[in-house]
Amino acid sequence: MKDSFGRSINYLRISVTDLCNLRCKYCMPEKGICKVEHKDILSLEEIYEIAKVFVSLGINKIRLTGGEPLTRKGFVNLVEKLGNLDGIKDLAMTTNGILLKKYARDLKSAGLNRVNISLDTLDEEKYSQITRGGRLKDVLDGIDVAKSVGLTPIKINTVLIGGFNVNEIEDFVNLTRADEIDVRFIELMPVGEASKWAEENFVSNEVILDKVNTLKSVERLDPSSPAVYYKLPGAKGRVGIINPISCKFCDYCNRVRLTSQGKLKLCLHSNEEIDLKDKLRQGEDIEKIILNAIKQKPEAHHLEDGQYITDSMYQIGG
Ligand code: SAM
Ligand code: SF4
Repeated sequence: MKDSFGRSINYLRISVTDLCNLRCKYCMPEKGICKVEHKDILSLEEIYEIAKVFVSLGINKIRLTGGEPLTRKGFVNLVEKLGNLDGIKDLAMTTNGILLKKYARDLKSAGLNRVNISLDTLDEEKYSQITRGGRLKDVLDGIDVAKSVGLTPIKINTVLIGGFNVNEIEDFVNLTRADEIDVRFIELMPVGEASKWAEENFVSNEVILDKVNTLKSVERLDPSSPAVYYKLPGAKGRVGIINPISCKFCDYCNRVRLTSQGKLKLCLHSNEEIDLKDKLRQGEDIEKIILNAIKQKPEAHHLEDGQYITDSMYQIGG
């Protein structure tokens, strides 16, 4: 599938639920969210039907996300069905890792290739604080099991938060020394709960290269990846820096998103959405709707002008 700027669209990110078993302070309100009515959420069967159409149109990479994908009942089953679609080359998941120990083996058997795990601190107390009650040990155990069953390469996503984890940058970078783990630092974005945060919480990723000056840049293998990669001398894993605001990868953007309520989002940083759920339920030609929609994918985002989305990350899946 090509959009109107000649970009090949081969990557679909699917949010399977808005719900989550954590309440990260920058993402979810403390009380959680108002539960959307069951009928307003895509069923797993509908997610599969829509994904099947996307794959027939050239999508070969799918990432499952949320909310927390592992809290959705029947999730492993969905993974298995998606993994069996002809044409899928890469099936991955983004998770907070809390339930990974329980599900990693089944997910691998079902056909999941790899996982990205979100982890913003290596300190137990701080982890409980930022996630409002999460247990760090659950995530670390989950990472171990994911490694042992071969859900690799494992990527750890760390949101850099001023006044919270900047002093842990070296500890995170050191995780890449002995294991084939990529640690990717992501800049906090002023969306959702974080839109109310103070300016000092938003720090530029440049601080990573200042703090760890032994990092050397490595060749960019995938131009559509938003991460620029570095390596410590002799390390097995890489350090990725994702800077959505000052570095634009829009020219190489290959992705679209499907929300749990069945909306197609053509750009993470745009409020535009195209409904697929009702159209599917009304028996309309989803393939035609998707092909038309792809032609509307915007050329670039405008974060540099302060144009932020009104949705929260748990609704879009990151
Ligand atoms: N629950 C899963 C998890 O945490 O990995 C998947 C969904 S979560 C919304 C996806 C990613 O979005 C996480 O890595 C999270 O840290 C990131 N995220 C959420 N809010 C953010 C914000 N305001 N700025 C930057 N990243 C954010
Ligand atoms: Fe849940 Fe992920 Fe948001 Fe944290 S970042 S509240 S784990 S959806």
